Amino acid sequence: MAESRDDFSGPVKMALAGRVGWKCSFPNCPATTAGPAQESPDKWIRNGIAAHITAAAPGGPRYDANLTPEQRSDISNGIWMCPTHGSLIDKEKTAYKADEIRAWKITAESRATRELELSHSHGHSNTASRYSSKDTATLEKYSEVMSYRTIELIRNEQFGSFVRDLVTNPLYEIMGMHENPRFMFQDVNLEKLRQLLYSQVIDFFRHFGQQSAGGRGGYEFVNMGQLTRADPSSRGYWENYVSETQKLAEKLCATAMQLLVIKENN
Ligand SMILES: [Zn+2]
Repeated sequence: MAESRDDFSGPVKMALAGRVGWKCSFPNCPATTAGPAQESPDKWIRNGIAAHITAAAPGGPRYDANLTPEQRSDISNGIWMCPTHGSLIDKEKTAYKADEIRAWKITAESRATRELELSHSHGHSNTASRYSSKDTATLEKYSEVMSYRTIELIRNEQFGSFVRDLVTNPLYEIMGMHENPRFMFQDVNLEKLRQLLYSQVIDFFRHFGQQSAGGRGGYEFVNMGQLTRADPSSRGYWENYVSETQKLAEKLCATAMQLLVIKENN
């Protein structure tokens, strides 16, 4: 069994831990994962876990059969977690999507970067915002467009025969903002999240747009009753189509949520 797992090497684990300052990457978890060993004044212990974003072996959570063993044990497929959250994401096979976990990693590394920068500038007030005023304003703007309410609305959308433009308008606004240099982040990690959100919105519309037709106050979308009356054997196809739409929407919501969390903590 041990041979079929694509585990991380020691150096990869150390790098994963170091890049987040030895703290758990689960959103808002305060746990640290290294400290002095009680047994001896010259020893230290670590109790974090280098968790797999997509599983190390078939049958594991979020397993991606398309990856090579090298990709599976690459640092890009790992995230540093405290024991509680490491085992949580290993046991929860479907609750957390790989993209969502990748967004946590970006946020955790960005937090560690800010903490490093703060310790370099001790003399300054530590109540100051961690980002430039331009970035803070842009975070505000993104949080206005993709507010908690909007994210909830999109997450709860069933994508049935009619989709209100309340759901799609904010996404069009995100696309418009992407074109505008005024809304680019100066911070590298924030900009990564912004690019990720944009690409997820594009993926969503590429899929949604194939079956939607604009109407009053929204879009005609997949009318399951009509379509399956016309061709009963097509039910599975349309069910998949709708469920894929929901998944694409969930992905972009997870990223928008990360921007909101960063804004709240800024
Ligand atoms: Zn944790």
